[in-house]
Amino acid sequence: MPTVSQPQTPAALDSPLKEHRERPVKTIADKLETSSLDERSYRVVALPNKLEVLLVHDADTDKASAAMDVNVGNFSDEGDMPGMAHAVEHLLFMGTKKYPIENAYSQYLSAHSGSSNAYTGATSTNYYFEVAATRAEDAKDDEASPLYGALDRFAQFFIDPLFLDSTLDRELRAVDSENKKNLQSDQWRLHQLEKALSNPKHPYCHFSTGNFEVLKTQPEKRGIDVRQKFMDFHEKHYSANRMKLVVLGKESLDTLEAWTADLFAGVRNKDLEQNRWETEVPFRASDLLTQCFAKPVMDSRELDLSFPFLDEESLFESQPSRYISHLIGHEGPGSIMSYIKSKGWANGLSAGAYPVCPGTPGVFNCQIRLTEDGLTHYKEIIKVFFEYVSLLRENAPQEWIFQEQKGLADVAFKFKQKTPASRFTSKISAVMQTPLPREWLLSGHSRLRKFDPTKIKEGLAFLRPDNFRMTVVSQNFPGTWESKEKWYGTEYTYEKLPADFVAEIKRAATSTSLTRLPELHLPHENQFIPTKLEVEKKDIKEPAISPKLIRSDDLVRTWYKKDDTFWVPQANLFVNCRNTLPNATAENSLKARLYTDVVRDALEEYAYDAELAGLDYSISSHSMGIEIAISGYNDKLPVLLEKVLFTMRDLEINVERFEIIKERLARGLKNWDYQQPYNQVGEFTRWLNSEKTYITEQTLTELPHLTANDIQQFYPHLLRQMHIETFVHGNLYKEDALKLSDLIEAILKPRVLPQTQWPVKRSLIFPPGANYVYNKTLKDPANVNHCIEYLLHIGDKSIRPLRARALLLDQMTHEPAFDQLRTKEQLGYVVFSGVRSTVTTIGYRFIIQSEKTPQYLEARIDSFLSGFSKTLGAMSDSEFEGHKRSLITKRLEKLKNLDQESSRLWGHVDSEYLDFELTYEDAAQVKQLTKSEMIEFYEHFILPSSPARSKLAIHLNAQASDTTTTVKNGIKALGLNKDHKDNEDGEIMPVHQEGNGTTPYVITDVREFRSRLQVSAGPQPAKHISEFEELDSKL
Ligand SMILES: [Zn+2]
Repeated sequence: MPTVSQPQTPAALDSPLKEHRERPVKTIADKLETSSLDERSYRVVALPNKLEVLLVHDADTDKASAAMDVNVGNFSDEGDMPGMAHAVEHLLFMGTKKYPIENAYSQYLSAHSGSSNAYTGATSTNYYFEVAATRAEDAKDDEASPLYGALDRFAQFFIDPLFLDSTLDRELRAVDSENKKNLQSDQWRLHQLEKALSNPKHPYCHFSTGNFEVLKTQPEKRGIDVRQKFMDFHEKHYSANRMKLVVLGKESLDTLEAWTADLFAGVRNKDLEQNRWETEVPFRASDLLTQCFAKPVMDSRELDLSFPFLDEESLFESQPSRYISHLIGHEGPGSIMSYIKSKGWANGLSAGAYPVCPGTPGVFNCQIRLTEDGLTHYKEIIKVFFEYVSLLRENAPQEWIFQEQKGLADVAFKFKQKTPASRFTSKISAVMQTPLPREWLLSGHSRLRKFDPTKIKEGLAFLRPDNFRMTVVSQNFPGTWESKEKWYGTEYTYEKLPADFVAEIKRAATSTSLTRLPELHLPHENQFIPTKLEVEKKDIKEPAISPKLIRSDDLVRTWYKKDDTFWVPQANLFVNCRNTLPNATAENSLKARLYTDVVRDALEEYAYDAELAGLDYSISSHSMGIEIAISGYNDKLPVLLEKVLFTMRDLEINVERFEIIKERLARGLKNWDYQQPYNQVGEFTRWLNSEKTYITEQTLTELPHLTANDIQQFYPHLLRQMHIETFVHGNLYKEDALKLSDLIEAILKPRVLPQTQWPVKRSLIFPPGANYVYNKTLKDPANVNHCIEYLLHIGDKSIRPLRARALLLDQMTHEPAFDQLRTKEQLGYVVFSGVRSTVTTIGYRFIIQSEKTPQYLEARIDSFLSGFSKTLGAMSDSEFEGHKRSLITKRLEKLKNLDQESSRLWGHVDSEYLDFELTYEDAAQVKQLTKSEMIEFYEHFILPSSPARSKLAIHLNAQASDTTTTVKNGIKALGLNKDHKDNEDGEIMPVHQEGNGTTPYVITDVREFRSRLQVSAGPQPAKHISEFEELDSKL
């Protein structure tokens, strides 16, 4: 294994001539419109090769980052090789002339607390990374931060990529696996169907991902040198003048500019034109007034209307589609949604415009999630839609509505908080491809600047009954489908809309105030718009690490922290109504879930205005009770809380609405089986690690037995006795926080649930030498991907030295595991390794989704782990120390915004560990670790030949493979009869001896499995709770 390279010193900076050197770099803008909280500085420059760069100096950041957006994407793929742009994106990572080792880039990033990714869009390919912003403590004084070395490696993608022959097949297999991952995803399937039914002369129709067949097998049969093709594509489309780079670091703008100018000077400029498509449109007249009925994989129902729309490329000041989608997508009184929901036809509605590509008009889209009844009334719904459009046309664009939207957008931008460094660079590099004035790169699409009624009217004029396409998605309607889409196999029927229906729509579109539904009207003024936005910013030496406990009695504990870091006029409130009922039985957990679903449904219209005004709430049930959370501008937060609590307390369940919610939940639970296998596997791991939780199929079994009356009877019990734990964080004073607790107490008026009755959180303990296997056959018959989760149990997660070892193991193996199992062996697109915790224990796991069988995957993971033992043994001290440093930097990474801090602190309260100093403790422990301690740990807990290691493997088997026969044979061979078992139990598979001499225990009876195991101790607080108390009312 090659050693990790260290950051270099940029020669140019040391040059004595630097001061006098001519600066060929041209400054384009050095004053950007920023949010009031933004303390970064910015400069936009153009290099002599016409590469445009946004430089960002951030003195406070602990992560540096860069992103490159290249103006070429799948719209430029050649017709007979779909996926070329995407394949080139994958291949650029695989070695460059200066750094020929295929994983040099990812290894360098991994050694410096970094990571990277990329995506391919229609007209752009976007690459980005992030890395530690500061050099290591023990680095030499003249050494640059790791950003320099990362930029150097990154720049080579665009200068001299090798397209190494040896990596080509493997990376195309990664693309193939990526495509197979998407094959059963309705989102991909329906999007491709829409593309397939568009103008074949416009590249919108392209299949963007590609697969091994079309990128390798077929072209080679035609005598094409595939590798040469990709190099030609790079040569033809990658040009400095088509690239937009964003570099963010701790260094000064001058230093960043000098580095960028040096490292990216070699990117060749071919003066290519911007990619634009102006001669064809995606939807011609012949593609309009069509109806498409499509059959989804999951049981969902949807009505989709799309309209060819304005090209808004240069309308960033007025953005007319935002006015229109605000009204069409509204959910308050008078809206389309309000009406069709009152008829029992819809569960959701969203509307908005999106651009297709430069030079081509955009599309306005309205999506409605239908109920069963809604599906039979889809034509009525379309008529309601057009009646509402006629209302909008009749009422001239209202300036007050625009001003309301503008005001909210201005406030949102003013108090915009930081996002992770690479999310910022990636996003802004893509924005730089648009014609925004450079001063507005950060604010351009967020803010609204100009009320333009003419453009709004022009936009509205596109929402005509002769200018749209309709799609109805359903598994049952019409029941037979005539065609199959080429790439994903989606069944559909596509035809012209019936003439009589079009005539009805036309009538609806010309309705007047006399003929239209009286229920439809424009929204009222939004009462939730925050008016008090003051923040009292103080000088804080050290932000507080822990919240304070400001109320603690038998009924209520109130945790509180005044924001001392982010200074935004916002707050987060979390409330846990602790109650033992939801976890008693699967039926109870389902009742609690339905109760929260009904509460949310009842609040939908009311809470919509709050949501628009930046104030959100959630209510959900979990094994320990009901959780309420409210988040956003603190001004009106108590108003929303009060309404949520009253709704919870006084809920009168409407039977019809309940049946709609129940049916929706039933579909949701059934659809669970049709998710990606890697999204399913975690539920089984959780289940088999816990003493008592329920999995989806257990819940589903209970659903048919529940009625509205059951929930009406049940929920008062949920509320009558509880313990209330709350956490208030943000721009609120202590008295405000106490008042919120009082409000909860006063409205719900619960009796105390004595502390002795609170449930204790525990997990199962897997003994040393444990070797458990759980098998499950995946339900989707068309899915080809198996999945494994391979979990090694380590122990109590509060034992600090043990945690530190597990975390460092994750750091050291993350990149090599990906390199071996994904890049080299190509087991599948989804390859993941890392630490996994339960409520009280910690473990180390792999998840792989693959066409290979779980048994095979398990053997490959074993092989990797055996091999890594040698890597660890041979690891140099400097590399070992590098991993420690990289991990410590990650653990201590600063939080970016109020929400992140709130969730972290609430997590510490809710987990009952109260371990607010966890990350600092982790870092301190990691710092002390020696290599021999890690080897000892590895040989005990991880190495496949260790008799002490303790493993649980979940095998999810795809039906579309040979393993089903193995399952049946296995059952026969073992002479077992499954009839007496619950249907949730796993299946029998042939067993084999393991490398450590243990025989796998195949879990077929989960209760028996649990009964053999001990359970862990519950969480012990890191400090006694009294140490956080600050109960006197003086602050
Ligand atoms: Zn990809």
